[in-house]
Amino acid sequence: MTVLRKNLIDGEWLGEAGSRNINPSNTNDVVGEYASAGPEEAKQAIAAAKTAFPAWSRSGPLTRHAVLKKTSDEIMARKDEIGRSLAREEGKTLAEGVGETIRAAQLFDFFAGETLRLSGEMVPSVRPGVGVEMTREGVGVVGIITPWNFPIAIPAWKIAPALAYGNTIVFKPAELVPESAWTIVDILHRAGLPKGVLNLVMGKGSVVGQAMLDSPDVNAISFTGSVGTGKRVAAASVEHMRKFQLEMGGKNPLVVLDDADLAVAVDCAVNGAYFSTGQRCTASSRLIVTEAIHDRFVDAIKERLDKLVIGDALDAKTQIGPVVDQTQLKQDEDYIAIGRQEGAELAFGGDRLERGAPGFYLQPALFVGSTNAMRISREEIFGPVANVIRVKDYDEALAVANDTPFGLTSGICTTSLKHATHFKRNSEAGMVMVNLPTAGVDFHVPFGGRKGSSYGPREQGRYAMEFYTTVKTAYTFAG
Ligand code: NAD
Repeated sequence: MTVLRKNLIDGEWLGEAGSRNINPSNTNDVVGEYASAGPEEAKQAIAAAKTAFPAWSRSGPLTRHAVLKKTSDEIMARKDEIGRSLAREEGKTLAEGVGETIRAAQLFDFFAGETLRLSGEMVPSVRPGVGVEMTREGVGVVGIITPWNFPIAIPAWKIAPALAYGNTIVFKPAELVPESAWTIVDILHRAGLPKGVLNLVMGKGSVVGQAMLDSPDVNAISFTGSVGTGKRVAAASVEHMRKFQLEMGGKNPLVVLDDADLAVAVDCAVNGAYFSTGQRCTASSRLIVTEAIHDRFVDAIKERLDKLVIGDALDAKTQIGPVVDQTQLKQDEDYIAIGRQEGAELAFGGDRLERGAPGFYLQPALFVGSTNAMRISREEIFGPVANVIRVKDYDEALAVANDTPFGLTSGICTTSLKHATHFKRNSEAGMVMVNLPTAGVDFHVPFGGRKGSSYGPREQGRYAMEFYTTVKTAYTFAG
C-alpha cells in the first residue's frame, strides 16, 4: 500500500492525494502518493511564514542550533534508508544516494555551527560621541524552489542557511522527487521548528512556484533549475523588488592536454560526464582534447564506457542508473540525433538498454569529431552524453573552453604547473578543477558560477550569509 505524503502548512500536514511518484529504474514501482498544492495553499503557506518570521528571526542562536543539529543527526543516523529512497525516486545509484544524504547531514551540521558564529562590527562614527554598529538580520520569508537532480542536497544547502540566519521558508521541491523533500521537512518539523517557520508546498511549478513568484510577501527567492525558469524567477523578482539567487545550467568543459596523466584524465572524464547519469549541472559535457593525446584518450574512454554497469539504481553493482523520466530520456535521444545530423561521429553508445524491469535506461554516449559551434556543444543536454572537441594546443583549448554562454565549472587535466595556473586564472567559470572531475564539490566553500549559469550571491559555506541576511547599520549618540 502506498502512503500519502501531505504538505506542511503552518505546522499542519494538509492535502489530498494529487500525484504519484514513479521509480525510473522500474516504472511498475510506485514510490508514493503526494498532495498537490494549488495557489490557495501557496498563499496560506506564505502567510504562515510571514506570521512566523518576527519570533523566529529573534529566536536565540541556541534554539536554531538545536533544530539544525538534531536534523543533521537524524539524517546521518538514517543515511542508508534515506539514500535508498532517494535512489529509488531519482535513479542515481545507491552509493550516490547515500553519499548525497550524508552531504545533507553535513550541511545541517555546518549551519548549526554557523548559528553560534554570528558576528557584527562596531566602529566609531565620523561624528564625535556617535557609535556605529553593523549587524546582519534575516531577510524575511524566503521562497526555496529546487530541481530534481539533487533531491536532498540542494534543499539542504538552501534550507539550512535560511533557518540558521533567522528566515522563514516556503519550500517548493521538484515534482519528480517529493519523497526526499518530504523526508527532510518531516525531520525538521519533528526537530522542533515552531509552526509556520518551514512550510512545504509540493505541486506544479507553473501553479505553486508561480504563486510564490507572484506574491509580494515573499522577500527572497533562492532558485536552482533550468535557465528558462530562472529567467521567470528573475523577472518576477524584479517586479516585486525582492532579493533573488539563481543557479542554472552548465556546459562545462574538461580540457585534456598532451602532458596529462592519461589514467587521471579518463577517470575525470568518465566520472564528470557520466556519473549520476550525466544529470549534474556540473557535468563535463565538453571534452576538449589536444592533438597528441586525442586518440589514446578516446580509445581509453570507450574501453571504460564499455565496462560500466548500467542498471537498476538499487542494485549495488550498478554504476550508472536510469535517466530520471521519459521526458528527459527523449531530450537525451533528441540531442544524440542532433549531434549526428550536425556531423559529429557517435563513437560509443547512445542506444536504449533493456533491463529486467521497464525503466529509462540509456547507454552513455560519446561523440568525437565535434566542433564547439554545434548545438551539442552549446546547449545543456543534461544526460549521459558528452562530445570530444579536438584542439591543437593549450591556447586553443582555453579559448574553446570559455566560448560558451555558461560558466559554472571547468576542469583541466595536465602535469604542467604553468598551464594549470594559467587555466585557474583565466577560465571563465565559478569553480575550476585541476586533475579532478568538474563535478564533486565540498560543502563548506562557495558554490556557484558566472555568465548564464548563475546570478546573485554564492551558495554554501559562510558565503551563504550574503543571500540569507541583510545588513543593518545603526548609529547611537550616547551623549
Ligand atoms: P526546472 O527549471 O524545470 O524546475 C526547477 C524548479 O522550478 C522545479 O521545482 C519546478 O517545479 C519549478 N518551476 C517550474 N516552473 C516554474 C514557475 N513558472 N514558477 C516557479 N517555479 C517553477 O529545472 P529541472 O528540470 O527541475 O532541473 C534541471 C535543471 O537544473 C538543469 O538545467 C540543471 O543544470 C539545473 N541545475 C543547476 C544547478 C546549479 O547549482 N547550477 C544544480 C542542479 C541543477
